Amino acid sequence: MSTVGFIGLGIMGLPMAANLVKAGFEVAGYNRSPGKIAKLAEQGGTAAGSVAEAVRGADVVITMLPDSPDVQAVVLGEDGVLANAASSTLLIDMSTIRPDVAREVAAAGAERGVRVLDAPVSGGEAGAIEGNLSIMVGGADDDFAAAASVFDAVGGTIVHVGPAGAGQTVKAANQLIVAGTIELVAESIVFLEAHGVDTEAAVKVLAGGLAGNRILERKAAGMLAREFTPGFRVELHDKDLGIVTSAAREAGVTIPLGALAAQLMGALKAQGHGGLDHSALLKLVEQLSTHDKA
Ligand code: NAD
Repeated sequence: MSTVGFIGLGIMGLPMAANLVKAGFEVAGYNRSPGKIAKLAEQGGTAAGSVAEAVRGADVVITMLPDSPDVQAVVLGEDGVLANAASSTLLIDMSTIRPDVAREVAAAGAERGVRVLDAPVSGGEAGAIEGNLSIMVGGADDDFAAAASVFDAVGGTIVHVGPAGAGQTVKAANQLIVAGTIELVAESIVFLEAHGVDTEAAVKVLAGGLAGNRILERKAAGMLAREFTPGFRVELHDKDLGIVTSAAREAGVTIPLGALAAQLMGALKAQGHGGLDHSALLKLVEQLSTHDKA
């Protein structure tokens, strides 16, 4: 496994592709907006002019795209990944998409002899840059084993969680926890500020106790400064919470706090904040508590 075709060089994809280059892979990158392809080329990758060009000759194809329809178009579409991949190719979709679409992609790959893993990630932009993402993998044992060196180049915690689609189900649970945690950290910040407490000191001590969590570690400073450059965009988390709520409904599982978090994320997007980091849930909490901070 030495040649990787990487499709989707956004906030996550570009640093992940760059880490594959650093690990010694030949990486041909393609992205819809070409500026990002040039950035990969600056970091030692090869610029591909199309999906077909990125896929041709690749042992492994990685997709890191926004949403389910994007993956369906790029993988299943005309002149897409499956139309161009050799039958021995390993396709690893690392986007966060619906579990049923992950299964659809795996089945379509199997028909053409292409092996498919769903391998969504957690750890954010920082994890992508540092190469220590948490990767939750669905698919066959052999294919998971074959992808080890690729996963090692971009991940820290790499776990095979079950058959096709299982990675996406675990990622949905991840997004449920992250959204709920951001909301509680946001509420705590607004609460502490209203009481005139030194919030930096408060965050420091909270992070060391049972309330400690990665959102406090990685996002609280930005939230205190009202710095909401993404990171992870509200519109993507809104998409993920749609996956969570519908998957919960399909399974007959009630997730009251998750449903509330989904509503709040949706409201933030509806207010025109879809392009901000998801920690901007703080804006909504402030708005609910004050007249002048909307
Ligand atoms: P992004 O929007 O920054 O990147 C997606 C890239 O895909 C863009 O550069 C876009 O131009 C490209 N693209 C879209 N459609 C395309 C097509 N048809 N052909 C070629 N390129 C196309 O998004 P991101 O933040 O990098 O997220 C990517 C995926 O990873 C999403 O599913 C997201 O939910 C997930 N994710 C993001 C984070 C994060 O913190 N940003 C963390 C974990 C998982």
